[in-house]
Amino acid sequence: MSARYLPGGFSRRAFVKLMAAGSAGLCLRRAWGAAAAPDSGPIDRSLGEIAPAAFSGDDPRRAHRILWDKPAWLAAHGGRYPAPAERVPLAVVGGGLGGLTAAYLLRRHRPVVLEQAARFGGNAKGESWRGMDYAIGAAYFTAPDEGSPLAALYAELGVDRLWRSKPEGHPVALDGRLVEDFWQGETAPAAQRRQFRELAAYFRRLYDEEGGLRYPQIPAASAAERAHVDALDRRSFRRHVESRLGGRRLHPHIRTAFEHYCWSSFGASFSEVGAAAGLNFFAAEFGEILVTPGGNAAIAARLHERLGRELPPGHLRAGALTANVRAVPGGFEVAWEDAAGVLRCLHAKAVVMACPKFVAARLVEDLEPERIEAIRRLRYRSYLVANVLLGRRLAQAPYDLYLLGDGATDGRDVRAAAERQGATDVVFGQFVHPDAAASVLTLYRPLPYDGARPELLAEEAYAKALREFEAQVVEGILPLLHLRREDVAGLRLARWGHALPVAETGLIAGGTVDRLRKPFRDGLFFVQQDNWALPAIETATAEAFHWAPRVEKYLAG
Ligand SMILES: Cc1cc2nc3c(=O)[nH]c(=O)nc-3n(C[C@H](O)[C@H](O)[C@H](O)COP(=O)(O)OP(=O)(O)OC[C@H]3O[C@@H](n4cnc5c(N)ncnc54)[C@H](O)[C@@H]3O)c2cc1C
Repeated sequence: MSARYLPGGFSRRAFVKLMAAGSAGLCLRRAWGAAAAPDSGPIDRSLGEIAPAAFSGDDPRRAHRILWDKPAWLAAHGGRYPAPAERVPLAVVGGGLGGLTAAYLLRRHRPVVLEQAARFGGNAKGESWRGMDYAIGAAYFTAPDEGSPLAALYAELGVDRLWRSKPEGHPVALDGRLVEDFWQGETAPAAQRRQFRELAAYFRRLYDEEGGLRYPQIPAASAAERAHVDALDRRSFRRHVESRLGGRRLHPHIRTAFEHYCWSSFGASFSEVGAAAGLNFFAAEFGEILVTPGGNAAIAARLHERLGRELPPGHLRAGALTANVRAVPGGFEVAWEDAAGVLRCLHAKAVVMACPKFVAARLVEDLEPERIEAIRRLRYRSYLVANVLLGRRLAQAPYDLYLLGDGATDGRDVRAAAERQGATDVVFGQFVHPDAAASVLTLYRPLPYDGARPELLAEEAYAKALREFEAQVVEGILPLLHLRREDVAGLRLARWGHALPVAETGLIAGGTVDRLRKPFRDGLFFVQQDNWALPAIETATAEAFHWAPRVEKYLAG
């Protein structure tokens, strides 16, 4: 926590007292940790008032140590994988929303779920401050179709009792001014507003499938849906939007809004993202959006809790970094390093790979060359998230506020523009419980270009990110929301290295996704957002729903 963020009335003495209380808490937790299994739930409620001055999010160091030079790591463990010590019907590698959903749907087979991080949830993790849960990654989701399997799952987990719908309207900040509904054209002179309304009407009609328009469903569930998605995927989202306007130039504010939206949602530029992916995401913004306290971590937490109750003890394994998967007679041998650094191995009849594909490529022996080629085509982008802790009630903030800077982002030098912009949107963490005495703002800062990852691993990365977020908060966010520096009680940062697969034009139409997601040797299945290079909870869960019956069938055979 930065000293700049000590609230005004907060004396040095009180701060030292709080620090002491924080570290005592830490000692107690350590002592307690020796006796009880550590909490591996997606929401970290152990932080208290003072969080460590370090990134949360994902920590790639252990994965890099093991997977970048597997022979050296294996040599340090005796040079060979041990014989399997257990035989199980099903192993799930990766405990993000895809892996947790697959494990839940297949729970009657008592899967063992191996998650490399200390907490389950993947990109859908959260933290808590003064009893308020907030997201450090994924924030919101679209309302499921009535009667759909996803709606039934949310109801079964009780998620439908947690959520609140985001109000209509698309608030933005432009040139330091708050505008309530961008698509009414309020930022532009009256004569230029038509384009805003025309596009908003198009996206609304597309989402509602009115006037002969068809919403592109991804994953596509039928041949007809797939043909529609393929046709759209052959050109970029930007080209598609421009063509809707019959070649008229996009108003600079609109271009900026799309650019920042694509950075934030895809970690990619408006010109890189395929039209099918762009329309799938953006049209849904005109439908019902749902928010739970802690963001999508609340859904991961419900799944984790249920699985914890319904699976045999020890089947949810956190800190279990899978290092190797090999096909053997009757199934697969899965080897992992456990949280204590011990190399272990199990035999599973079926495996669900719910980790990203670039990891799967390092784990699974003898993958087919065309799948490896398809995996190489996927690019992943990084992300920074900051949570601003506010020691006061903030009942009036919009849920998701897009920051459009001066409204002149043109997408030509994305890296320079993204660096200038910093965070692209701010989510009001207490949206579901706005009457809480304190509140949290979540700032999303995508890094929508290649090459950001090594910079995030540099020693000075945390201090640099903190400085930049602080400046944006003080100069940009606080004045917008009529907040004072003294209102800020802390700033907590999360770093995501390989968070978002780029939904690049042509990946679907060119068949790359088919090569990525087809089962391997019949018994190994893939369930992850990157099956369709589309970074959303709906992709991860839809893939779990798609593949679970096939896993069932294979296990029954
Ligand atoms: C900052 C941010 C904001 C986002 N916002 C939203 C949002 O608002 N709404 C939305 O729908 N989506 C959002 N997303 C996208 C989000 O990624 C997906 O919604 C979803 O959470 C992806 O789930 P997944 O299971 O497919 O992948 P992941 O969450 O990546 O899960 C993969 C899991 O595999 C584990 N793993 C990796 N390697 C190994 C190994 N060797 N052994 C064992 N385990 C391993 C990882 O630790 C991880 O837990 C956001 C993403 C980020 C980063």
